[in-house]
Amino acid sequence: MKVDVVVIGAGVVGLFAAYELAGTGVSVAVVEKEPRPGMGVSSRHANVIHVIQLPFSSLKSRLCLEGNRLYSRYSEELGFRLRRVKAYLAASGPGAKIRTVLVARYLRWKLPPWAQVATIPGNRVRDEEPAASDNVSWAVAVNGYGVIDAEELVSRLARGLDERGGELFLSAEAVSAAVSDEKIVVELSTGISVEARALVNAAGLYSDRVASWFGDSYMVTPAKGVMTIHEKPRVRSILTHLALKPSRETKGGGIIPQLGGRTLLGPSYAEASSKEDYRYSPADVEALARRFAPLLSEPLSSPVEVIVGLRPTTRSRDFIIRRSDRSPRIIHLVGIESPGLTAAPAIARIVAGMLGKLL
Ligand SMILES: Cc1cc2nc3c(=O)[nH]c(=O)nc-3n(C[C@H](O)[C@H](O)[C@H](O)COP(=O)(O)OP(=O)(O)OC[C@H]3O[C@@H](n4cnc5c(N)ncnc54)[C@H](O)[C@@H]3O)c2cc1C
Repeated sequence: MKVDVVVIGAGVVGLFAAYELAGTGVSVAVVEKEPRPGMGVSSRHANVIHVIQLPFSSLKSRLCLEGNRLYSRYSEELGFRLRRVKAYLAASGPGAKIRTVLVARYLRWKLPPWAQVATIPGNRVRDEEPAASDNVSWAVAVNGYGVIDAEELVSRLARGLDERGGELFLSAEAVSAAVSDEKIVVELSTGISVEARALVNAAGLYSDRVASWFGDSYMVTPAKGVMTIHEKPRVRSILTHLALKPSRETKGGGIIPQLGGRTLLGPSYAEASSKEDYRYSPADVEALARRFAPLLSEPLSSPVEVIVGLRPTTRSRDFIIRRSDRSPRIIHLVGIESPGLTAAPAIARIVAGMLGKLL
């Protein structure tokens, strides 16, 4: 089979890139090793369209803000739900007011005006978010967050790609690839080979393996995030502790409303022993409840589900969007950890821009 671009990986990043490329009139094929799209990291996240991403100097922070804005457009265009919500960064105890004032000042300096950063007292937080506990004495409120449904987003992206003439091959693992001056040939586990003029490596946790076929060296290390889903209490907005430096255990995380009405806690942050290590312990679940229950006015119901995701991290802890040393027509997307869901539409535009002149 011959196409202009082959994308390896049908997670949100590969699908957004393929959708964007197909919109420019080039032929695109996405190959995915799993039987359904989005079964990797893209179905094991917190569903949040983020605003604040630290450090502000990073590529992931910039693309987080750009991607966030693009979601409103894609939600209409592709027909998936996006609920805009506020986030409250809550403080309690002595010095709560001054800490929120200082953090709000810093965030106003770093974030665009649409984030409408404000400092508000606890009673106003409770008016706007009745699930917030009396422990919250002050909070920094940030606008412009969003919540989506992972499965819905992936299925709408797959449909949108199909409508633009792109092809999606499932249960089709790319097992090797070779590049020459004119073409890239990818061999699939199904026995079919795909001949393309360009390749996008969106293989998530396995993007280092795909890059190695072209002699490009990266190391992706999995970092585990455990999340729990609860029926009660229900929240309207994101609630979390005020901390500009994320703690190692939670990397931030929070209490997050889900589109179906349930409440998600987390994610946590821990090392994983392999790229298939989805284990968790009761201690992981208890740690989340211990951390976030004090922010809630009602008792937390027992979790109805525990979700474990693996972040594809690199040593730089930032996104890597880079051409292969072997060919400018091969683009590696490596280290697309959080906020990769949020940034995916912005990453897609960069990829389309990088390949645009070459196709
Ligand atoms: C616990 C946790 C919570 C998170 N929460 C958020 C959040 O709330 N908001 C946010 O913005 N981000 C969040 N993220 C980050 C976000 O989920 C990821 O950045 C994003 O899903 C990455 O998408 P991807 O397409 O790059 O990876 P994946 O979804 O993993 O896609 C890669 C695909 O490539 C396929 N593949 C791999 N190798 C091959 C091969 N050789 N041949 C064919 N196919 C192959 C895989 O099967 C997979 O489907 C979170 C991450 C974690 C772990």
